[in-house]
Amino acid sequence: MSEDILKKLLRNEVKIYELENIVGEEKAPEIRRKFLERKLHVDLKHIGSYTISPKNVRKNIENMIGAIQVPLGVVGPLKILGEYASGEFYVPLATTEGALVASVNRGCSVITASGGAIARVLDDKMTRAPVFKVQGVDHALKVVKWIKDNWDTIKAAAESTTRHGKLVGFQYFIAGKNLFIRFKYHTGDAMGMNMATIATNEASKVIEENTGAKLIALSGNMCVDKKPAALNLILGRGKTVVAEVKIPREIVKKKLKTTPEDFVEVVYRKIYVGSALAGSYGFNAHFANIIAAVFIATGQDVAQVVEGSNGITIAEVTESGDLYVAVYLPSLEIGTVGGGTSVETQREALSIMGCYGSGNAKKFAEILASTVLAGEISLIGALAAQHLAEAHKKLGR
Ligand code: NAP
Repeated sequence: MSEDILKKLLRNEVKIYELENIVGEEKAPEIRRKFLERKLHVDLKHIGSYTISPKNVRKNIENMIGAIQVPLGVVGPLKILGEYASGEFYVPLATTEGALVASVNRGCSVITASGGAIARVLDDKMTRAPVFKVQGVDHALKVVKWIKDNWDTIKAAAESTTRHGKLVGFQYFIAGKNLFIRFKYHTGDAMGMNMATIATNEASKVIEENTGAKLIALSGNMCVDKKPAALNLILGRGKTVVAEVKIPREIVKKKLKTTPEDFVEVVYRKIYVGSALAGSYGFNAHFANIIAAVFIATGQDVAQVVEGSNGITIAEVTESGDLYVAVYLPSLEIGTVGGGTSVETQREALSIMGCYGSGNAKKFAEILASTVLAGEISLIGALAAQHLAEAHKKLGR
């Protein structure tokens, strides 16, 4: 049977996307792999060696041939004094960048020795912003008025598609004959992008039917999903989170081998002047490193590292001569249900933090923000102590 299908694939009588329907979900990846091995003369032994169930990831991947294995490390204990995350945590990081895990681990040790990071979720919303074509500014304003006057109808249409999604508001932007409605949703413990998109489709139909505005695209790029944009930095998207810690001078000296003054000078000259000169949206040292590694480990949408890494690191010498460090992450798009979170390995990674499933999204946001803080403290500390190249020579190559 398998050999017959394989021959048909090679003769192009069967398409690679048809295999699940012919041989079932569990067998299809193997046949696809064999097809590639024969056609391209490559060996896919390791890609074919995995424990996750193709059936379980049917909605996460098409044309599956196997799995890529990324080494997984862990950092901790990391003490967090959050509203949702309270206690000491271990955090999984999937990466191939040598020295990253060791560096973040050092930051965790600094935070824990200093009494813990305070973390808070300041805002929580997922956005979808369709673009409508209107006749001009007066028509655009009439449409906006209609939306305001009929908000309950629009909200009911949007929320008819989901149990957890709640339409909580909108902002509008008018440019010529273009009207952008940036819908805001609470999406429970899901990151919410599918939820918001499906709900917005229904809301948009109601607007089209009643106002003469023509829906041009369900996403009008003012959402803003997976593209660098000042809008997300300013208005936020997903979870807006802060984490802060006061590090006693002695700990700065002992663990980071620098002083609060030198640390703050690196933040001023590198993080502020350097980032401003570069026209950067991310005024930070390396948010993306930690966010990407945790996203890969826990089944988040990795493309949203773009928004997650837009954020600011703040550092000051306190009146008592200690070091205050904070991170501000306005658009951290994460979930503990849905998307890739229930892939077996990703689910296990979330469980390390006690974050798999319903009721855990804000806890996860606080843990991730605190881990980002740990990463910033360690890297900026290494730069202030002139240790960065040395650490990479020793650990990374
Ligand atoms: P999802 O997996 O599509 O939806 C979440 C599901 O979990 C819903 O069926 C929801 O049911 C259910 N659910 C159960 N318990 C929940 C709880 N406590 N809180 C919230 N939901 C709960 O995930 P999503 O977060 O909406 O979307 C994430 C996916 O979208 C990722 O795979 C990502 O790659 C993809 N994505 C899509 C787009 C797009 O434009 N469509 C863009 C970027 C990324 P109810 O809905 O009935 O509440």
